Amino acid sequence: MFDARSLLVYCTANQALRCAPIADRPHGGLVVAPHQGDEHGLLETAAYLLGRARFGAPLLLDAARYAGPDRMPARAPFNPRWLRRQRELGLPVLTDSGYVDAGDEAGLASILHRAMAIPDAIAVLPLHPAWLRDRLHLTRLTGHLRDAAVPVALVLEARADPFALPGCVPGLLALLGGATPVMLLRCDLSSLGALCHGAVAAAVGTVAALRHLAPRETDKIHPPATIFKPTMSYRRISAVQRAKRTRPDPRLWSCDCPACGGRELDWMAALDERAREVPAFEHAAAVLYELRDELLGAGLPLPRAARSWAARCADAASRERELGWAVTPMLRQWQDAGPNPVDMPMAS
Ligand SMILES: [Zn+2]
Repeated sequence: MFDARSLLVYCTANQALRCAPIADRPHGGLVVAPHQGDEHGLLETAAYLLGRARFGAPLLLDAARYAGPDRMPARAPFNPRWLRRQRELGLPVLTDSGYVDAGDEAGLASILHRAMAIPDAIAVLPLHPAWLRDRLHLTRLTGHLRDAAVPVALVLEARADPFALPGCVPGLLALLGGATPVMLLRCDLSSLGALCHGAVAAAVGTVAALRHLAPRETDKIHPPATIFKPTMSYRRISAVQRAKRTRPDPRLWSCDCPACGGRELDWMAALDERAREVPAFEHAAAVLYELRDELLGAGLPLPRAARSWAARCADAASRERELGWAVTPMLRQWQDAGPNPVDMPMAS
């Protein structure tokens, strides 16, 4: 279904045509969610991508019924028509799961149990972060995954980056050390950490709201941010502009990606805030694919990729300090987690 360790783009249907050329590459792919709940529109977009747009990389559809103010709970039944339509389009079948709250073990088991009955299904697991952070939850989760033996696609709930929360990275590594194929949906730079530790695929959101699962009560508007490669962190364009004034070294700030075309990264500051969204993502995607290829490109064995990812995180954190930025918590979490012990026994 995927090339090993694919980095996918996660977007909504209204963004899909713009994202398709970026995601249509080796070790690429696209995950598309409905725009404002319009599942019919999503299916039409998918048919267009596969037909006239000749999209050649893996394509997945996420019904995202676990998100938004009217989100479904984990026990909500799957919609058989939704599952069938994915199959008719020749796509991998992602379950239209509801949200698995902390402590809803029955809901978790119910999703996995129903997914087992669907041939070749990938069970979408939209999880409260306690499932990764709390030892008891994690033990139960790994037990259920082992019993069900179906591939899973995790979506993690958090107000911002779930991998900034203590315990989430070690929890993810525990899942990646098991036999169940795991992919991550709606994430950001931690997608690379997950791939270096054995995730089958990881999908990076185009905008902040698609880079995690926001809790139901939040309706926060995030200003556009993009990745500054030396610090491997998302930064607002205005923050880049301010930092550049303190260190005006063109080698540090200029970028050769198709969106920037050799300009210094704060060129986007000249655009109004809404117009920054597209180039901010195009630049971020170029950086992410570059990092993916640097970390995993030459068929590097996973333990080495994981070590090199931890080293990159340490380096990025020290560059943040040099620029007077607070260290991004995700970088510290990945640094502390170290290489996956399951993959460790090898001579370097
Ligand atoms: Zn760029």
